Amino acid sequence: MSDLSFYVHIPYCVRRCGYCDFNTYTPSELLDNGTLETVSGDYIDAVLLELALAKKSAAGKIPTIFFGGGTPSLLPAADLGRVISAIRQGWDVSDDCEITLEANPDSVDVVKIAQLREAGFNRISFGMQSAVPHVLKVLDRTHQPENIAKVVEFARAAGFDSVSLDLIYGSPGESLDNWRTTVEAAPFKRLRTDCRNGHETSKSNKTW
Ligand code: SF4
Repeated sequence: MSDLSFYVHIPYCVRRCGYCDFNTYTPSELLDNGTLETVSGDYIDAVLLELALAKKSAAGKIPTIFFGGGTPSLLPAADLGRVISAIRQGWDVSDDCEITLEANPDSVDVVKIAQLREAGFNRISFGMQSAVPHVLKVLDRTHQPENIAKVVEFARAAGFDSVSLDLIYGSPGESLDNWRTTVEAAPFKRLRTDCRNGHETSKSNKTW
């Protein structure tokens, strides 16, 4: 039986970053006066229906499950856990399956991170992007750079096997010194992260 991996897309963000061309929506883009709860309330049920359909046509052993977006960490951990449970019930999930959640540092705290671990995630990827305030501002990112070390420690304390950081380089107005500051602020050993991913900002202000 061949391997089969799942990517679960959660298409919501509280705010749209100017460089972003991912398939994601703020609540007000979807509904006048919409809130995250009103626009996302039945989304997980829809994902579960998709999984039921997929079960009829796709078989395989599951080595990885990845929740991306959007900002999947905005949704309640219990709802995300319902998806993991459905995949476990429907497929042969390998014992060492890597189950990843992309997380915005602003959307999680020590309690939420513990709940996410409890829900079945064993890898978490934080959108750090930069350690330099003016670069974060040009990217429309709202988190405080100092939050990164905190959430990484929360993730380690909660028992995440793997923690990664997403970084962006080449942003408008970013100097080489700025980039060096960012890389030095996210040292592999000090923050005990397992992976750092770099994305270049293209001339059209989009990333790939
Ligand atoms: S948080 Fe990520 S997915 Fe959401 S708008 Fe910003 S870059 Fe796009």
